[in-house]
Amino acid sequence: MQLTEKINALQTPCYLYNLTLLRKTLQKVTEEAGRYPAFHVHYAIKANANPVLLKVIREYGLGADCVSGNEIKRAVECGFPGNAIVYAGVGKSDEEIRTALQEDIFCFNCESLPEIRIINELAAQVNKKAHIALRINPNVDAHTHHYITTGIEENKFGIYLCDLDQVLAELPSLPHVKLTGLHFHIGSQITDMTVFRSLCLKANEIQQYLKNRGIVLPHINFGGGLGIDYNNPHAEPIADFASYFSTFARHFDPTSPNQQVHFELGRSVVAHCGDLLSRVLYVKEGKNKKFVILDAGMNDLLRPALYQAFHKIENISSRLPEEKYDVVGPICESSDCFGKDVTLTQTTRGDLIVIHSAGAYGETMASRYNLRNLPGYYFEGM
Ligand SMILES: *Cc1c(COP(=O)(O)O)cnc(C)c1O
Repeated sequence: MQLTEKINALQTPCYLYNLTLLRKTLQKVTEEAGRYPAFHVHYAIKANANPVLLKVIREYGLGADCVSGNEIKRAVECGFPGNAIVYAGVGKSDEEIRTALQEDIFCFNCESLPEIRIINELAAQVNKKAHIALRINPNVDAHTHHYITTGIEENKFGIYLCDLDQVLAELPSLPHVKLTGLHFHIGSQITDMTVFRSLCLKANEIQQYLKNRGIVLPHINFGGGLGIDYNNPHAEPIADFASYFSTFARHFDPTSPNQQVHFELGRSVVAHCGDLLSRVLYVKEGKNKKFVILDAGMNDLLRPALYQAFHKIENISSRLPEEKYDVVGPICESSDCFGKDVTLTQTTRGDLIVIHSAGAYGETMASRYNLRNLPGYYFEGM
């Protein structure tokens, strides 16, 4: 990134969103998914719920994937119609379910039988029939960080295959829900397409099992999870949507010619479109190390502390020779560290530091820990 007068004037810490790149990314998503008429893409709002970004995303015709009642409300406020909203989550509260019923959403992605019973009960109260999909835990390992792996049998997400029969047996006694699909979401930051192929093969098996019992569902939803290249944000600013969608087109067998296929992409849509900008408060010389202490902390960008995530870090103020630093925040936690042994041009107080690819799970995870202010945000390419 170039240091311009405009960027130098921004109040840090802040997120800087590149709407030109967001539009290019959306162009590519819609072009690649558009090769397959049955494919529909929902944007997973939890990755970044900034209303300015949401409105741009809606312009390209994506639906919304929500994981809370407030996300449903935000989606509706930003122009997503109810019939383009899907709603997942292991712990939907009664109030959240009522919100979703009121907006007549496309589908509840259900994660347990007790939840389905409550949706049935609340739908009955307003005399509606809720469309549901069963979120199946397919026991496919995403081979990603264990905190962002969600589709193996030891975690809390989805309905286990061994419990499927019990759910199917009870559905006829729940007249206010209608089963319209299957849902999967096996994890995040997945760059190995063989993982998605395994998911397709598993989905094919499950659909065959259902077909043998006379159940043919109008839609299937493969969730999100497509990863991005955090190491090379400049060389690879747009995720590999072509390989992603073609993997599903090649390996998934729809049970009927008009079965619709849904996706819920979050990270891959917005990650590279946002950077976190921060100023150097101090450079502190340790015994064997130098610490760059930023005015941004883990409350502004939690991913490194939470998942040991890597973000490329750059000093855009200095053109001096390179040195190695540990780049840390001001928060009273040892995990408040953005990177160890990071190579930066020689750094001094006041330099502007860019933490790249922070558009997904950045601003949405920001908190007021230590009673710090929430990070600001600015846009390029409005
Ligand atoms: C988080 C989440 C997504 C988005 O995942 P990405 O890895 O950001 O694409 C999609 N669906 C569900 C159910 C999720 O919880």
